[in-house]
Amino acid sequence: MTRLNAKAFAIIAALSAIVTTALADTIYPIDRASVIENGRFDFKVEFDKQIKSDDFRILINGKDYARVFGKKGEFIANEDELGASSLVVRDVFLKNAGAYAVEVKALGKTTKVNWSVFAPQKLPKAKNVILFIGDGLSVAHRTGARILSKGVSEGRLNGRLATDDFPYMAFIGTSGTDSIATDSANSMSAYMTGHKSGVNAMGVYVSRAKDSLNHPKQETLGELIRRTSSKSFGIVSDAEIEDATPAAVVSHTRRRADKSAIVGMLYDLKPDVILGGGSAYFLPKSTLGSKRKDEIDYIKKFQDDGYALAIDAATLKKTAPKANRLLGLFHTGNMDGVIDRKILKNDVTKKFPNQPDLTEMTTAALEVLSKNREGFFLMVEGALIDKATHPLDWERAVYDTIAFDKCVEIAKAFAAKNPDTLIIVTGDHTHGISIIGTIDDSKAGDDMREKVGVYADAGFPNYEDKNKDGYPDTPAVSKRLAVFVSNFPDHYETFRPKLDAQFTPAIKNERDQYVANEAYKNVDGAVFREGNLPRSVDTGVHSVDDMIVQATGPGGEAIRGYMDNTELFRVIADALALGNEKR
Ligand SMILES: [Zn+2]
Repeated sequence: MTRLNAKAFAIIAALSAIVTTALADTIYPIDRASVIENGRFDFKVEFDKQIKSDDFRILINGKDYARVFGKKGEFIANEDELGASSLVVRDVFLKNAGAYAVEVKALGKTTKVNWSVFAPQKLPKAKNVILFIGDGLSVAHRTGARILSKGVSEGRLNGRLATDDFPYMAFIGTSGTDSIATDSANSMSAYMTGHKSGVNAMGVYVSRAKDSLNHPKQETLGELIRRTSSKSFGIVSDAEIEDATPAAVVSHTRRRADKSAIVGMLYDLKPDVILGGGSAYFLPKSTLGSKRKDEIDYIKKFQDDGYALAIDAATLKKTAPKANRLLGLFHTGNMDGVIDRKILKNDVTKKFPNQPDLTEMTTAALEVLSKNREGFFLMVEGALIDKATHPLDWERAVYDTIAFDKCVEIAKAFAAKNPDTLIIVTGDHTHGISIIGTIDDSKAGDDMREKVGVYADAGFPNYEDKNKDGYPDTPAVSKRLAVFVSNFPDHYETFRPKLDAQFTPAIKNERDQYVANEAYKNVDGAVFREGNLPRSVDTGVHSVDDMIVQATGPGGEAIRGYMDNTELFRVIADALALGNEKR
């Protein structure tokens, strides 16, 4: 092609792209979707205007869609009064692996997408899969956890994290259908369904439906396990258990805030182990602390279905050995982090003084799930890494990364006795957090900025772990890490750990804008930092940077190079040979 031709071709291509987008109908699942054989999904076509029920044809590999799916869809002439028609076929599947070309012909135009359907593995590689999600887990969290937990001298670490000897590793891209920047809902949803989704959504494609519970569904890993295997599965998180990451194992909603509905979805699918915070959405409206708008008592419902109930660390320890199904709810909201519970023992944990540690929840979950001879899938989320990094509180985030690492250690000990176990450790997205050196209080003067040591001047921090529990005895040492984030609202930088409670960098003013929280203005040496985020944002935000995934055990060899987040679904399904007919 000559240069001129190439240019002309580019213009024509650009024009035709514009023309097709302007007139395109939308098809769900979207182009390049990958589905397991017989995997369930909702098929939806959104026409760009109102049409009649015989104005269109839908062909899948040249055959009428109703023949391929074995049923006709529901034609909606004017969907949600939006002035456009839709066709929805619920709960369909494709029987044979291969390439599928989907064509929608309506009023003289054609819209096309391609799907690929993959066959399940005939034989499992692993009996159990344990998936660890460090919410927001970035490289700096891992580096910080190594330095604080193990120590560093003459440039070498004095110990390693649990994942540091894992043989398999990859970068993961976390972008969604609507944006390069993801949240925990759609990123976890990609792992749990193998489909892309958008911010705030899980287990569904983001369509134009107005009802958040009426979007085209994608089968979740939890559902696939129930439909095609006799394995157990469990969900553990130190966040509210109906929060995005744990919820994405089972649920379908456009809005992660549908927490009451999500508890209902948890109940419908009944994971064998459910441990975390968030009891407020399990309690009937009339009970103190409830956030439900109805009188359904989900704790009672689970108990009636044979679940043992744990309400604190002691009952968890007592019930787990005997239970086959276990519900543990230890906080009305998110649970409290390690630094407040174990180190500072401040007022934060007064409300729920006997919460179990994430390590104790991991041990209990493994105890219950491993009773099933068919094996299990367990998801453990270290949620507080993210919950602390958002408000720029890196000490809390790193202490919780250490706790998370201890959970991986527990899983490694389990896998040592049960070598048919695949352990995968990753996060759902990253934060713009970085370690650049140290802050040394002994340096002369009052200007905290001059106490920041970089390059040779940074030297090494002086954290101590005298009781050898893996956590520095206090984060408030005289020479500590200098950790900064790339994005923030207006706030006061104090250069010091927050010992009373988690940092609240910004609060709302009367114009609904987030401004620096004056409570930190008079901390010794605090300086004002003008935000670089929109004023509607109250904390630091997720970064688009790659996530790192590591794995050990059978099936882990599929993790390498660069992967899209949707590919992790197949790694898990393949390892457990999910998708075959139930034995
Ligand atoms: Zn987050």
